[in-house]
Amino acid sequence: MSDQKYIPPDYFQIDEFLSDEHRIIRRAVRDWVYRSIKPNIENWAQHNDFPAHIMRELGELGALGPYIPEVYGGAGLDQISYGLIMTELERGDSSIRSAASVQSSLVMYPIFTFGSEEQKQKYLPKLASGELVGCFGLTEPNHGSDPGSMETRIKDKGDHYLLNGAKMWITNSGIADLAVVWAKDEAGIVRGLIVHKESDGYSAPEIKNKWSLRASNTGELVFDNVKVPKENILPSVKGMKGPLSCLNSARYGIAWGAIGAAMDCYSSALNYSKERTQFGKPIASFQLQQKKLAEILSEITKAQLLAWRLGVLKNENRATPAQISMAKRNNVKMALDVARESRQILGAMGITGDFPMMRHMMNLESVITYEGTHDIHLLITGHDITGISAF
Ligand SMILES: Cc1cc2nc3c(=O)[nH]c(=O)nc-3n(C[C@H](O)[C@H](O)[C@H](O)COP(=O)(O)OP(=O)(O)OC[C@H]3O[C@@H](n4cnc5c(N)ncnc54)[C@H](O)[C@@H]3O)c2cc1C
Repeated sequence: MSDQKYIPPDYFQIDEFLSDEHRIIRRAVRDWVYRSIKPNIENWAQHNDFPAHIMRELGELGALGPYIPEVYGGAGLDQISYGLIMTELERGDSSIRSAASVQSSLVMYPIFTFGSEEQKQKYLPKLASGELVGCFGLTEPNHGSDPGSMETRIKDKGDHYLLNGAKMWITNSGIADLAVVWAKDEAGIVRGLIVHKESDGYSAPEIKNKWSLRASNTGELVFDNVKVPKENILPSVKGMKGPLSCLNSARYGIAWGAIGAAMDCYSSALNYSKERTQFGKPIASFQLQQKKLAEILSEITKAQLLAWRLGVLKNENRATPAQISMAKRNNVKMALDVARESRQILGAMGITGDFPMMRHMMNLESVITYEGTHDIHLLITGHDITGISAF
């Protein structure tokens, strides 16, 4: 069975809950991933190369801001469609899903939710088409899990703000035309600003030598007396609610996306186990390998059910941040474990770039860390069930 024809596992017939529109969108994105990503991703990852041209293709697919209304250039889709798109993109690679996640949930979402009408009209259609690329600056060199202690500052200079500070680990910083940057004002209140890359004092040095998300551009954002016009502040939000609501949307997408990486590993391991013969039999006939495959399928199935139910709640505006945390945490850990177990099924072949497991495994080490670490999401659940914050 070739990978192209492989039907992803749907052991509990969750597809029955999907609409025709959901299936059509999923098919279109899956076909694109098999056509444009799978044949090239190993090369891009080996050479630490983000294929920037795909932003336009993602735009054509409707994968940038899928849930943003059509009047602003989005696809006007529901949250389950967004989730399915993320799953299919991450079946290709977490780097590709990250690029779409950042543009959709961390750049377009805050402009749509907190921006002025002028900002929405000016930026959203071009972000939706991939003509403009955005990035999201929250994390700083000294503040990762605790972004509320950020040091980046804006000062009111009458007709503009003066921005100073630095952001770290920023996806797409090196290729972004604009950054949504979170900084504190003189009263210590967190504000969101749209900052253009051409601004004097703006630089975005790349972070090199990553072993993870190698097909993604990651860098810093450094602001040295950057003048930001007053009209570039997001007017409708103050405080950490701004960046945290963006993270909620992105974490939701990751909860779906990680399933795609896990499915890709499962698919490769199942096919290989039927073809590889040892002791005169396919290794799929050995109980230990069947145990691995059966447990992988069980975990993928549980993650699918969690994501689907979360999608229903999100469509109804009822998904809580704590539910999203639980799903992100569970599904990313599931995918990381699946990548490791699948790699073992392939023996030595599993460490090569001929199969996707090592690449997914290394990628998922970032995915389990960004958008809130595995530990922090556990503490969010702990807080939710006890009412006591442990951080
Ligand atoms: C490839 C990549 C891309 C990224 N893209 C972006 C981006 O586009 N924009 C952006 O703003 N950020 C981005 N990030 C940053 C990411 O969100 C942070 O790395 C993450 O929030 C963790 O922060 P940190 O790395 O500083 O770890 P730290 O906060 O220093 O944590 C280190 C360890 O301590 C643990 N820890 C921290 N606090 C507690 C506590 N209270 N209790 C128990 N344990 C604790 C953590 O769980 C972790 O294991 C990216 C990161 C990576 C790796």
